[in-house]
Amino acid sequence: QATSNTLPTLNGHASNVHPTSGSEAVDRLQIINDEKQFTQDLTSQIEQWGMRDAGFDYNIVSVFGSQSTGKSTLLNRLFGTTFDVMDESKRQQTTKGIWMCKGKGANTMVMDVEGTDGRERGEDQDFERKSALFSLASSEVLIVNIWEHQVGLYNGANMGLLKTVFEVNLGLFGGKKAQDVGRTLLLFVIRDHIQTPLENLQATLTTDLQRIWEGLSKPAELQDCQLADYFDLTFTTLPHKVLAADKFEAEVKQLSKRFTDKEHPGYIFKPVYHKRIPADGVAFYMEGIWEQVQSNKDLDLPTQQELLAQFRCDEISATAVAEFNEQAKSQRRPIEAGRVVEGLGEMMRSWRNHALARYDKDASRYHQGVYKRKRTDLTATMDSTLSPLFLGQLKNLHKSCLVAFKKEMLDGLRGEDYSFADVVLKARQTCEGTFTVGAKEALVEGADWTWEDELELLKEEMESVGNQCRKDETKKMINNIERGVKKHLAGPVELHLNKGSPLMWDNVLRAFREILGKAEEAYLAKAKAFNCTEEENALSLAAVRQRSWQALRAKIDEQTADAVILSKLRGHFEERFRYDEHGVPRVWTPEDDIDGVYKEAKDQTLDLIPLYAKISPKDKSLEYSLPSSSDSLDSSSTEEFDFPSTLIIFSEVKVDEIGKRFRRDADTHFVEAKRSTVASIAQ
Ligand code: GDP
Ligand code: MG
Repeated sequence: QATSNTLPTLNGHASNVHPTSGSEAVDRLQIINDEKQFTQDLTSQIEQWGMRDAGFDYNIVSVFGSQSTGKSTLLNRLFGTTFDVMDESKRQQTTKGIWMCKGKGANTMVMDVEGTDGRERGEDQDFERKSALFSLASSEVLIVNIWEHQVGLYNGANMGLLKTVFEVNLGLFGGKKAQDVGRTLLLFVIRDHIQTPLENLQATLTTDLQRIWEGLSKPAELQDCQLADYFDLTFTTLPHKVLAADKFEAEVKQLSKRFTDKEHPGYIFKPVYHKRIPADGVAFYMEGIWEQVQSNKDLDLPTQQELLAQFRCDEISATAVAEFNEQAKSQRRPIEAGRVVEGLGEMMRSWRNHALARYDKDASRYHQGVYKRKRTDLTATMDSTLSPLFLGQLKNLHKSCLVAFKKEMLDGLRGEDYSFADVVLKARQTCEGTFTVGAKEALVEGADWTWEDELELLKEEMESVGNQCRKDETKKMINNIERGVKKHLAGPVELHLNKGSPLMWDNVLRAFREILGKAEEAYLAKAKAFNCTEEENALSLAAVRQRSWQALRAKIDEQTADAVILSKLRGHFEERFRYDEHGVPRVWTPEDDIDGVYKEAKDQTLDLIPLYAKISPKDKSLEYSLPSSSDSLDSSSTEEFDFPSTLIIFSEVKVDEIGKRFRRDADTHFVEAKRSTVASIAQ
């Protein structure tokens, strides 16, 4: 038996180049060898056959039957394959293990299985059972090759083996419903058909199969399942190859059409038999089945499909992710550097869609549950990679929008005539608009992302920037108002304080009220455009009043400084002492009552000091009052403000001091006057 014409290769598999049939070397592959090893070359072989990208557009067929019943011959005729056929002169085993060929001109994977009556491999029933199980589990169509005279002979027709295979097969399906598994077609080809009508043969075979099925020991949950739940049966005959050679060839040709012509009423590869394994996964799938058959593990086909799907989907997903990661990496640096990346969303969506499309293209053919689950995983993986980019983009957008907001506001506040509220509103709208557009651009459909929170943060920050700005503006405005008040107060205060009349304070306060009233009006008019709150208005007005009052007090202080007040007093005194009631300068004569005039002028003038000493109008309704320690907008002024004390211009000590200094002045005038009379007498 060692004289096989195939050479063992390194991995123990026979060479897939068949030296027969003349010129053309034809691809064949022994997928399971004598050592019961599954080939590692199936994937590349399928690729060479040009079926790698066929998706579901391919079929698998295999054959079952006793040895030397013309199985290989039949396959070669039907599919144009090149399986070894027994050499008539030697009558020895030809097919070892399981071989696969590609059907000529069709995406058909044809498997030729070692004959199954134990003779070809001696007593190795284990191998034949496994081979049969393997072909049943992996094929859409199992051709059961049988001679007419074998029909009805339980052992001769391998019905015993079929029973075992059905039993194991059913047991291994493990309660899975038939429709999950996919039906299988058993195509009975009755060879050397001579006499018995097909209907009779068909009836016999069907009854036999039915009996076998009923006799199966089924798992408890599958007690009621029927043969028809799993298998479709089709029967056909072929004439004797030698005795009716022409008829044989003609009918084989007819039969072969049923494998290729989809329009044929007897078309064999119905979609319902397809195992739904994408062509690029067939090798892995079959190897998995063989492993399970080999190790007597449960031959759970859906699980096999899932395992396969997991393996392939993971692979496909990893490839897609690798490319995707490269792309995502390109934008990480700019985002981390704080840049707003133009068109980031567009990029992210395109990377993501591209990866998903790649994944879908190859993975969607696999077990749908696994495919979808892995797709969800893939999406989650990508989204978690994109999420930092999205969040970074939002942060950068937030920052740049806020900067733009500040700039737009300051620009708007630069001119003279502006409405603060309008400026803020416009800047706000611009900023929110820019942010929203940018944030929406960065969104990726399907990702569970939000940008609204970031917008809320931005709004809060704009609010506080706006508030600060308003406070600054308000302060500026109050300063302006204060300056105006100062300017307007100066004249009236000087005028009225110069006169030193008893109604002096009434006049000063009246003027103050009027000026302050205008200032308040001016404030309120402007404040409207600032959108100030009531509270802010109250604070600002309080500040305006206090500052105005302080301005008044400063002016009064200036007008009552020692030198100034003394000069005022002197003026007052001189008016009365040195000039007569008509304003004519007096020339003193000895008869004049110098002492009397002097005393009166001096007393009258001294009376002014207490008047100046305290802000106190005659008309009590003019009295002004401010809350002490009033809150001020100017938080830097922490000094206590004690209004009543601001009414006091001179303390009692000061009043005395000024009185003394004035008297000294007045005395000088008196002495001068006295002297002048002496001098005039002396002349
Ligand atoms: P396998 O072992 O089942 O693959 O059978 P082979 O295809 O190798 O054929 C075994 C022998 O049967 C060969 O000598 C063939 O020429 C012969 N043979 C093939 N087909 C038929 C047939 O339809 N009728 C008969 N009587 N002999 C056949
Ligand atoms: Mg053979």
